[in-house]
Amino acid sequence: MMSEVTIAKTGTPGALPDENVLGFGTHFTDHMFEMDYNPQAGWHNPRIVPYHDFSVNPANTTLHYGQGVFEGMKAFRTKDDRIVLFRPLEHLRRLNRSADILCIPQFDVDVVHNALHKLIALDQKWVPAKQGTSLYIRPFIFATDPYLGLRVAENYKLAIILSPVGAYYATGFTPVKIRVEDKYVRAVPGGLGEAKTLANYAASLRAAVDAKKVGYAQTLWLDGVERKYIEEVGAMNIFFKINGELITPALTGSILSGITRKSVLEIARDWGLKATERRITIDEVYAAHSQGQLEEVFGSGTAAVISPVGELSWQNNKIIINDNKTGELAQKLYDYVTGLQYGAVADKFGWVE
Ligand code: PMP
Repeated sequence: MMSEVTIAKTGTPGALPDENVLGFGTHFTDHMFEMDYNPQAGWHNPRIVPYHDFSVNPANTTLHYGQGVFEGMKAFRTKDDRIVLFRPLEHLRRLNRSADILCIPQFDVDVVHNALHKLIALDQKWVPAKQGTSLYIRPFIFATDPYLGLRVAENYKLAIILSPVGAYYATGFTPVKIRVEDKYVRAVPGGLGEAKTLANYAASLRAAVDAKKVGYAQTLWLDGVERKYIEEVGAMNIFFKINGELITPALTGSILSGITRKSVLEIARDWGLKATERRITIDEVYAAHSQGQLEEVFGSGTAAVISPVGELSWQNNKIIINDNKTGELAQKLYDYVTGLQYGAVADKFGWVE
């Protein structure tokens, strides 16, 4: 395939948004990346072009049957004014793993990785500088077949768009209230749970609406069969610190394999902590709490990095974690990972590029 990325610059660059009111996902940069797939040419024509609307056939496969995958990662402007990405290859490899689950053809990670760096360099002025802000990177693949039959599509587009986003913790690092969901399920064994695919996010909406109605920020998902094993929380993985040990649910196929999760495990082990991936039930967490051994609970993900949990509610039974205060480990991990991202901590793992 022709793998040299071409660049067509915009003639009408946009005005940069106010860094104080960026929010999430509403502003987009001047350029985007695109590459197409058909059975004859494979993935071809990698190109950076001005940001533009797509024209979509009304019979588009992805619109009807959801055959699509995506990623979410970030670029940061460091204290010394460099622009860096956090573990982009991990994200692109996960995009390919998601693609495989959705029967979407594999792309050459090196081609897209190289193009991503070129795209970020071209739109570098869009990477905000204010503390906690970043440039959110959204790679995605969708089918482009104009065909209403249900089958694996033959044609696809891979695109990357960029969006300057505000600090996740605009009002400080405060623990959130989480509702343990026991009515709806997000994913089941043998399903799509470990793919970053449209259906999983569609499946999460009702529970999120219900949780918000009663004052909870996110849903903690239990397994789809026995409704007792903990899976993940909203768009984050989940960690429990019980009696000095850090525990996160094992990757059983229905959980997204988070890059932040992986990073937290690697850092914790490097710090000499016992960090375990295993199945853990909600009963065990409540029992640990009643024995005074549930020291911390926090989510991990690209958006927030670390999100401390102050309250869990399961079947109307509420527990308060660590007096509703941010735990020491959560704070230390947050400071370390954001330190890597903004250049305040030496990158001994080689995660920043
Ligand atoms: N679980 C789900 C369902 C998610 O959408 C995300 C965000 N990508 C995560 C976990 C955390 O993954 P990461 O650390 O790679 O952002």
